[in-house]
Amino acid sequence: MSNFYDIKPKRTIENWVDGGIIKSKSDRFEIVTDSATGKECASVLMSSKEDVLVAIESSKKAFESWSKTPVLKRARVMFKFKELIERDKKKIAAIITQEHGKVLDDAEGSIQRGLEVVEFACGIPHLIKGEFNDQVGTGVDTFSMRQPLGICVGITPFNFPAMVPLWMFPLAIACGNTFILKPSEKDPTCSIIWAELLKEAGLPDGVFNVIQGDHVAVNTLLENESVAASSFVGSTPVAEHVYKTSSEYGKRVQALGGAKNHLVVMPDADMEQVADALIGAGYGSAGERCMAISAVVTVGDSAEPLLEKLIPKIASIKIGPGNDISNHMGPLITAEHKEKVRSYIDLGEKEGAKLLVDGRTHEICNSDGFFLGPTLFDFTSKEMRVYKEEIFGPVLTMMRVDSFDEAVQLINEHEFGNGTAIFTRDGDAAREFSNKIEVGMVGINVPIPVPLAFHTFGGWKRSLFGCNGVYGMEGIRFYTRLKTVTSRWPTGIRSGAEFSMPII
Ligand code: NAD
Repeated sequence: MSNFYDIKPKRTIENWVDGGIIKSKSDRFEIVTDSATGKECASVLMSSKEDVLVAIESSKKAFESWSKTPVLKRARVMFKFKELIERDKKKIAAIITQEHGKVLDDAEGSIQRGLEVVEFACGIPHLIKGEFNDQVGTGVDTFSMRQPLGICVGITPFNFPAMVPLWMFPLAIACGNTFILKPSEKDPTCSIIWAELLKEAGLPDGVFNVIQGDHVAVNTLLENESVAASSFVGSTPVAEHVYKTSSEYGKRVQALGGAKNHLVVMPDADMEQVADALIGAGYGSAGERCMAISAVVTVGDSAEPLLEKLIPKIASIKIGPGNDISNHMGPLITAEHKEKVRSYIDLGEKEGAKLLVDGRTHEICNSDGFFLGPTLFDFTSKEMRVYKEEIFGPVLTMMRVDSFDEAVQLINEHEFGNGTAIFTRDGDAAREFSNKIEVGMVGINVPIPVPLAFHTFGGWKRSLFGCNGVYGMEGIRFYTRLKTVTSRWPTGIRSGAEFSMPII
């Protein structure tokens, strides 16, 4: 049971190495705020290079025995870990709500999505199996196996302190690797809870270590030759940096970046359904989701009937602290981020978009937390920065196009390609859309098409650097190396030397 489940006292979040909290010589700390009150709720260590090196040594040592631990034993740790997350889910959700701000049931939902990856990892004995062919030549057999890489690191963003780390480390560990997590400094407490629960589940010390901090910690991990692979999720500029640095240092890398997700509304769509979908996908979690819908593209004459349904629904969104379960939307993560989102609303107005709902004037903005009301722009154009850039807040921009082809072209020309959706009753339009669209995850009448744990999550274009998405079989492939063995036993060799290429 974690010491951090009591969210009232101010806590200090440090590094977890070799099965426990380890003291650092660094005196650099950052403040973590309760985003609904604006008050400090924790402080988090900014690790030094030396701290990171200590964690790497621990991970290196643990790899020697963990990589040789039978796969069934590794699976059993995952089974136990799953039970412990289920036991503590509500307490973990309360911490996420305090630090991040999202409403409690949304926080719990995000834990559930991460838990599903743990469930997938429980099947590791089957997932990691190689292939076997006997008699590929006379007396010759070929088999393949997947072996762990070594030390893997995960660098994660603020918006999903439970789900995104859970996309990574359960699979990495189940595959026989050791793992160092560098969580977001904005909501770091969950990272220590994962470490505590894994220890309680029977994971040997050093297999999972946690390093708190900023770019100093990240760059030390990326540049260290003992680290074999880096998984990153966060903004595109940092994803690009992680991808380039990891590649330069010869590491395997998957780096998931930012997004601008479009939802196309065809004239035959059920507008009530579209409006409901937009409320959840645009404003849920205050728009701080990489799969949030931020651009609505209405085709033909669908704009007016949609607005008729959408605007009253926006007005009915209840905003307030996430621990009040009657609220639909909580605050943004920090005062700085609130300011950034607010400045995008100023910009949209300056750029000439029509402001239909102005989140800056919502009465919740006067409270102490980092709250901003929902915003809706109409008549945005593809030249505007409010359309081109990721805002990562409760701001929807609407665009009107004449045809399906125009909508597809618009989306394909955008630099990001994380998620997209189309709402229509027409199977042909939906099929054409999923075939032609240059985006990694596509929803048909589903606004946030996040694939479940046994599929794979990943965008295209500047939303993902590297070739593998996270979790699912792509995750197993990412965290293992394939080895193929061709074998022949002595009777074959006794037949004498061969000087020419064997013909099978
Ligand atoms: P961020 O890029 O600021 O931070 C992500 C991580 O990188 C954090 O751990 C942070 O400490 C570290 N970091 C920040 N600056 C760094 C630097 N200069 N050098 C090295 N490391 C650095 O992202 P964020 O603000 O925490 O999260 C929001 C972003 O994450 C959004 O852009 C969102 O779209 C994206 N995101 C993407 C996905 C996806 O699956 N594609 C999922 C969740 C979030």
